[in-house]
Amino acid sequence: MEKASAGMWRKIDSRYNLVGSMCERCGTKYFPQRAICRNCGKDTKMLHRKMSGRGTVYSHSEIRVPAEAFKESAPYTVGIIELEEGPKVEGHIIDNGKKVEIGTKVKTAFRKMYTDGEEGLIHYHFKFIPE
Ligand SMILES: [Zn+2]
Repeated sequence: MEKASAGMWRKIDSRYNLVGSMCERCGTKYFPQRAICRNCGKDTKMLHRKMSGRGTVYSHSEIRVPAEAFKESAPYTVGIIELEEGPKVEGHIIDNGKKVEIGTKVKTAFRKMYTDGEEGLIHYHFKFIPE
């Protein structure tokens, strides 16, 4: 089996490119992508829209007792980020020495998330860096 590379993951999954949806009728933006607009139902077309990757911290908490896969990086901070475009996404917040508070401006970074013990499969996800 071919080893999954970062490049491959970027290509195969729009989540890693922050490509969400925008409703053609009401302009509401969604991330991750949705097939149907919450406001308009099926009577509208959903367009692909790349999110800017910038947002603000909506909520955050420090994880001291992590899930097995994340134990190397504990303690770490996870948060819900409200993207500029409106959708809220969950992700790790990278400690770059800046204080993380509600309202802190962040931008996304594409980072290795964790490696699966057994097969060494690397999982990627976005993380957020305080600006
Ligand atoms: Zn709509």
